[in-house]
Amino acid sequence: MNDFPIENLPYGAFSRDGSVHLGVAFDERIFDLHAASRSGAFHDVCEPGVLEAENLNPLLAQGPHVWAAVRARVRSMLGAPVDAELFVERAAASMRMPVAVADYVDFYSSEQHARNLGKIFRPGSEPLLPNWKWMPIGYHGRSGTIVVSGTPIRRPSGQRKAPDAERPDFGPSTMLDIELELGFVTGDDAIFGLVLVNDWSARDIQAWEYQPLGPFLGKSFATTISPWVVPLDALAAFRVRPAPQDPVPPSYLQIEDDFALDVALDVRLQSEEMRVAGMAPAVISQTNARNVYWTMRQQLAHVRSNGTRIRAGDLFASGTISGSEPTSYGSLIELTWRGTKPIRLPNGESRAFLEDGDEVTLTGRCDRNGVRLGFGCCSGRIEP
Ligand code: MN
Repeated sequence: MNDFPIENLPYGAFSRDGSVHLGVAFDERIFDLHAASRSGAFHDVCEPGVLEAENLNPLLAQGPHVWAAVRARVRSMLGAPVDAELFVERAAASMRMPVAVADYVDFYSSEQHARNLGKIFRPGSEPLLPNWKWMPIGYHGRSGTIVVSGTPIRRPSGQRKAPDAERPDFGPSTMLDIELELGFVTGDDAIFGLVLVNDWSARDIQAWEYQPLGPFLGKSFATTISPWVVPLDALAAFRVRPAPQDPVPPSYLQIEDDFALDVALDVRLQSEEMRVAGMAPAVISQTNARNVYWTMRQQLAHVRSNGTRIRAGDLFASGTISGSEPTSYGSLIELTWRGTKPIRLPNGESRAFLEDGDEVTLTGRCDRNGVRLGFGCCSGRIEP
């Protein structure tokens, strides 16, 4: 299936001739927005600096009217013959961060995930904390270590403390995990588009540090996003009614015309041994973003509710997306139940958590009402 038909037209940044250009993915190619802008194709739509920038932030700051005008122009240009100089082959392109991420927020909006982690981290107590169904729980993460798909991930070191140990020790994480998430990128006050997010997590560091102030170094060492930002406009065909919420949330979280997105999500893992043997990555989880309890608009409304400012280039991630079946959990700590039920890989290896050389790839696909599109890949390989 082609992730990037004319209905999609996601934005990214890639290197060309020693500089970074913005582009739009279309089938197997990238339409070079920078080059098209220099040829005057957008002179009546936005200032040259917007599409000739090295990331999407100037475009994000323009707001929804300009976003719609740029998208309409790109779509009409790609519907007609275009100068071959305005394209590069996507497979050969080196992708860069599409956005200079301003602030990064990570939510915790999948009920199944929150319940699973409650059972794992706080056995014997109620899995869902009392606030969970009243607001989208989240924390501010570290934007400076958000990296684009393909960037190697160094195994972090930190303090870990075994339950029966007297004191913690400092060393490489032995419980390195993934988190399957979707994230949205904002302009000043509106959702521009979505990316896949792998919010890498060191569970041993997390478990020892997280009380009382929440996630910190076990989360901040790296977060990977997919290189193509899928415009919210492209996802209109995949809007679905969100599941009813009980209890009914406070009025600022009751949003008319709210929606969830029907995006099928897969996680694949390929070990070093599998790669050397030429074996394809193994699917270790499959789920869907429509199951997420709190919607993107509720997340944004919640962040804004205290009067804070939303900036162009802010990234808001959903939190790990887990379905109700054990094969649809979005992290290894859930899939292996904190390592007690290791995953079997097709070559006979087993995994509780990630080993050096493991490569994890997230994909997202939409297929509804005759429209099919995808998010591309979000990959990272673990290095010692
Ligand atoms: Mn997360």
